[in-house]
Amino acid sequence: MAPQPLGSLKGFAVTFRQIFKKPITQQYPEFKRPVYPRFRGRHRLWRHENGLEKCVGCSLCAAACPADCIRVVADENTATNRVSAGERYARIYEINLSRCIFCGYCEIACPFDAITLGNDFELSEYARDDQIYTKDMLLAEPIKRVPVADGLLYDTPIPYYRTDS
Ligand code: SF4
Ligand code: SF4
Repeated sequence: MAPQPLGSLKGFAVTFRQIFKKPITQQYPEFKRPVYPRFRGRHRLWRHENGLEKCVGCSLCAAACPADCIRVVADENTATNRVSAGERYARIYEINLSRCIFCGYCEIACPFDAITLGNDFELSEYARDDQIYTKDMLLAEPIKRVPVADGLLYDTPIPYYRTDS
């Protein structure tokens, strides 16, 4: 073993050499690593082309949710207030993203493709209540687009129920 001063000098030499090397780290948020093609992130609600909401307030997504974080309160469409294409619509639709485990069961359970999970993962908030996403937030356009890795690099297919991929 080298005597202590010599050992220290060797250590400093290693450190010194690293100073002139180009860093291999990628800085976030300047660089955003593309997400996996089947990555599940922030939800969104969809409308039909005619502007009516696809959600009919059936609560199947809420029933399927293992984290119990979806709240749906339905109401009847009327001739003067038609919101969705069905008999009923979601008067209140909320997802508490602080409880969500991003399993995608809500997306699979929905019979009308009204809700899907996108790939936005930047969901930090200062207040816990801000993690509750309302219907307006979930319907809002445009949603944040996150770079997605080339699907051909992976051997798992995009699932049949993903129409927004
Ligand atoms: S992704 Fe899973 S946990 Fe999150 S809201 Fe949908 S069903 Fe619930
Ligand atoms: S998102 Fe789909 S499953 Fe959930 S309440 Fe609306 S129509 Fe029903």
